Amino acid sequence: MKFLTAYFNKNKGYAVKIELDDGKQVWASTTKAVYSFSKDKFEDGEEVKFTYTVEDGKYNVTRIEKLDKSKPSTCSVCGKELKNDKYDKCYDCFKKDSSKETVSNKTNINRYTKSSGVNESIERQAIMKASADAVATAMQGRVDNVDTLAEQIEVLYERLINKIQS
Ligand SMILES: [Zn+2]
Repeated sequence: MKFLTAYFNKNKGYAVKIELDDGKQVWASTTKAVYSFSKDKFEDGEEVKFTYTVEDGKYNVTRIEKLDKSKPSTCSVCGKELKNDKYDKCYDCFKKDSSKETVSNKTNINRYTKSSGVNESIERQAIMKASADAVATAMQGRVDNVDTLAEQIEVLYERLINKIQS
């Protein structure tokens, strides 16, 4: 919000022109205190903080404050000073909050289940390959029949899988 100008008219009273956060410029009635304060303290177009009410489309500014950029932001939960004002919570409160989230825990369980399934399939493939390699090496030049070779690979594979799963 910006302070644009302050205005006084004997008939109409005290007013300030302000720019809202959406860029809309409005006239707002106000008190003598706010009028004097803003005339005294603020440059036209300065970023400030207003407290105001809107009634029937009429704005009324009840308070005007300096934007204190040097003031550190604080944690919205415990009030601790924040090093990074991008966040509204300190690391501890953020951590506490995220551990409460059961949804993300569920996702983690799903992810874990899925990956262990993938691991198992990779394991099976490795055993199959090892079986094939072993049989091929052992039977090199001795068995011409592909079916016989395949059978032996299968037998070896079954045995290895059973051994791993037992
Ligand atoms: Zn905190």
